[in-house]
Amino acid sequence: MFKRVLLCHDGTSAGRRALRRGAELAIELKAHAVSCEGCSGWLRSQSAVWALLDEWEPAAVSFDFERKLYRKIDESRSQSWIERTAQALTAWVAQPVVPLALASVLVLTGFLVDHHSFQPQPATHVRQTIMPVDAGQLDKELDDLQLLQQLDLVKDETTRQPGSM
Ligand SMILES: [Zn+2]
Repeated sequence: MFKRVLLCHDGTSAGRRALRRGAELAIELKAHAVSCEGCSGWLRSQSAVWALLDEWEPAAVSFDFERKLYRKIDESRSQSWIERTAQALTAWVAQPVVPLALASVLVLTGFLVDHHSFQPQPATHVRQTIMPVDAGQLDKELDDLQLLQQLDLVKDETTRQPGSM
């Protein structure tokens, strides 16, 4: 791991400073890891990752790679803007996130259509008038209401035909 710090060196003065600082940090970390269980474990896991990366070999580039690359660049230049837009849209829709987003929009639309009462009521329906009422008047009105209900019951019994039941 400590050898790999050298890979960052690009010859500039900023690169040299970064390299020096990186080397100092690496030495500090190494000294700290001697007495720290957590950091020494982390360093071991990093070494394992570096070892795996050392084993990885990039695929060889085919001998006509550059020729194919320049041909594709030329083809894309000769395409009209409509073809390029269609290609970009096709690539965009092919991403797995897009169908998921469209499905979410459909579900949300269905929910809103199903629960159209979700829209806020106009303020005129909500407005209420509260008036002070004295207890005697309220009592009288309740009596009137009871009387009306009794009248309704009597009316129901008198209009009911005896044979219709
Ligand atoms: Zn530590």
